[in-house]
Order: sequence, then C-alpha cells, then structure tokens
Amino acid sequence: MIRRNFLAALALAVALPISAHAETPLKVVATTGMIADAVRQVGGDQVEVKGLMGPGVDPHAYRQTRSDIVAMTRADLTLWHGLYLEAQMEDFFHDLSRKRNVVAVAEGIDTSKLRAHDDYADKYDPHVWMSPALWRDVVVQVQIALTDTRPEAAEIFASNAQAHLAEIAQLEAYGKQMLAAVPKDNRILVTAHDAFGYFGAEYGYEVLGIQGISTQSEAGLNRIGELVDTLVDQQLTAVFVESSVSDRSMRALIEGAAAKGHQVDVGGELYSDAMGEPGTYEGTYIGMLDHNITVIASALGADAPALGMNGKLSAGF
Ligand code: ZN
Repeated sequence: MIRRNFLAALALAVALPISAHAETPLKVVATTGMIADAVRQVGGDQVEVKGLMGPGVDPHAYRQTRSDIVAMTRADLTLWHGLYLEAQMEDFFHDLSRKRNVVAVAEGIDTSKLRAHDDYADKYDPHVWMSPALWRDVVVQVQIALTDTRPEAAEIFASNAQAHLAEIAQLEAYGKQMLAAVPKDNRILVTAHDAFGYFGAEYGYEVLGIQGISTQSEAGLNRIGELVDTLVDQQLTAVFVESSVSDRSMRALIEGAAAKGHQVDVGGELYSDAMGEPGTYEGTYIGMLDHNITVIASALGADAPALGMNGKLSAGF
C-alpha cells in the first residue's frame, strides 16, 4: 500500500513539469501598481499578484506595513522599482534580498538611458514609467525575473511579454502623434512634482515641477514665485495636479498668478506615481498613460479623442 502511494506520488512528480498550467500560481508581490500590472500582463494565469501601493499612494513616502512584510516573506518573488523611488524601503529591500527572491526591476535599465537630477548627485530620476520606451525595458526585466523563478513557463512569459510590448509600442505612437499636435509655444508641462522628466524628454516638452524629483522635498516660496512669473511671462493657462500628491502648492501657484491678473486653470489630474482604481482602464499601465497623454494634449490645445486611443477612458474632455 505504502509502495503504491509512493509510485503514484512519483508519477505525479514526473508529470508536473510538463503541464505548467496545472501548477499553483506563483505568488508575486510588487511595490507600485505599474509593476504589478506588468506582472499581470506577462505572468497571466501563472501568477497571483499583490500590489502594495494602491491608487493615490506616494511611493517616495511609503513604508512597508506588517501585512506587506508577511506577504513578501511568503512570496515566490518580490519586485520593487529601485532607483531610490521607494526611498523609505531601501534598507528593508536590501536586507530582504539576502534571504528571498527579490528584484529591483528598474535597475536593470542601461544607465546611459537614465536621467540624472540636480536633487540627487549620485542617483537617477526614477520615474521611468513615464516613457513607454523605457517601460518596455522594465517589462523585459519582469519577464526575466518570472522566467528565472519558473523556467518551465518561459514560453508563456515570452509570448505574453511580446503581446504587451506591442501594446506599449502602440501607446508610444499615440503619444507622439497627440503631443506633436499641441502648438509649439504651449509645450510646457507644469506639475506638482518633477515626475515628468522622461515624458518631457521623449515628447519634446519643457517640464516644470513645483516640488523636486521626490515629493519629500518641500516646495519653497521662491520656487512658487519663480513659476508664477513663468506662467505670466509665457501666458500659460493650464497646470496639472497629480493623483498621488497634495494640490496645496498648485493652489498657491494659481492664486499667485491670479494676484498678477493672469488666469490659470487646472488642465486636469494626471497619474504621476500611482495608477487609477483597480479594475478600471486607468488602473492599468496603458490606461494610465493614455489618460495622461490625452488630458495633456487636450488641455494644451490639441484635438485629442475624448475617450483616448482605445475609446476606453472613463471621462470625456
Ligand atoms: Zn515621484
């Protein structure tokens, strides 16, 4: 009897690698919603993803909770962004990576493609998801991490990744087309913090953030005064708030311009460091960027489709 059970178990063990589908999903934890989305796209039914930071959560300020730690110690794979985005969790991840399967996905990007920033002498701008071209590199890093963790599903991950990379290429083309339709003099993006540097570089926009590259630095009165002068001098009429950053400084900016007799309006709310609600189109990477591109192009004077490139945006403009 015991021997029969042993043989049955052996047969099962031999059969398992052949049908990767039959295995239990890999448990993957991801810090930002954008990384969690990439894992869902590439992993498909091979993964069960837990994203730690929901809509409106600021990754520069986020600290791991007790339940996050439990999830990460039980996970088959934990993915974080790196490049000092999760500044408050940096030490935690360095410790965790000594014991667990942990990968900083944005640190796999060739550093020659990254932007330096005045705020951090020895670091790079972490907001790489703002450039579809750079985000493709991150999706490839996610594919590599999943394949290293479950090599028998390599073909599934490769085929899912190809499909998602093609979607991102389509998004990139849409962005180029829409943002080039904005009159040249209007191609200035004023936002709450400096999250749009890669976006500006990719699409040829000047980007002015009230706060620096991290939301952790205070916006000084000098900076607000400087930006008020820019708005007035260049006759800019639209500024943008961010879903994961307080709009207090933005209100000060609008009031400052009004005091000088220049009216500025909020051109819309952008998803800078967090995506929209889970289960919605804006709660995916493609939807997040489609929203940003469409809102920016439309507010700055281009004739953008009200529902975005896929006709899926939740509100018209
Ligand atoms: Zn940021």
